[in-house]
Amino acid sequence: MHKNFDLNRLNVKAFAREKISLEGSQDLSQFARLLDLEAKLGPASQEELPISTQVSWAIQGELVPVSGGGEQIWLHLKAELHLPMQCQRCMGAVRVLVSSDQSFRFVADEATAEAEDEASEEDLLVLTPELNVWELIEDELIMSAPIVPKHDVCPTLVPMSAVDDAFEDALDARPNPFAALAQLKKKPN
Ligand SMILES: [Zn+2]
Repeated sequence: MHKNFDLNRLNVKAFAREKISLEGSQDLSQFARLLDLEAKLGPASQEELPISTQVSWAIQGELVPVSGGGEQIWLHLKAELHLPMQCQRCMGAVRVLVSSDQSFRFVADEATAEAEDEASEEDLLVLTPELNVWELIEDELIMSAPIVPKHDVCPTLVPMSAVDDAFEDALDARPNPFAALAQLKKKPN
């Protein structure tokens, strides 16, 4: 059995060395910044949406041997939740699936992170003796949340001014028959 790891102050190096996987769920109320993205719902909406929302998460540590010696420290992170947000089309409540699946490689210092960042698909983080995994999960979910949340299909009748842009563009592109007639009349015979 491995010793208990504190996700507020995780020793990533030891976590990776022991190849530990942890998963669980945490109430949304534990994530203050994520909670700010949540729609401020009226009483009617709260009946439609559950008040308590859980963030599911999983982390896995890994040491990757490097050719020529040494090892890289990796942390794989998955997290998701159904976040109640406000639809920007009908202003009603919409449950948005926000999920993140990201791998992090830990490097010695900021200079190395900057130097290797462009060539790396994974995110680079500077190794610290105490990593706050909750903050990392929260950062990732905030970055994955939609900037303009919308229903796929709004449940309420949408006012005409908010009709789908593509539909309006199609209308605009249609030639006006009277304008076409005026053009014809201007043409010298
Ligand atoms: Zn909507």
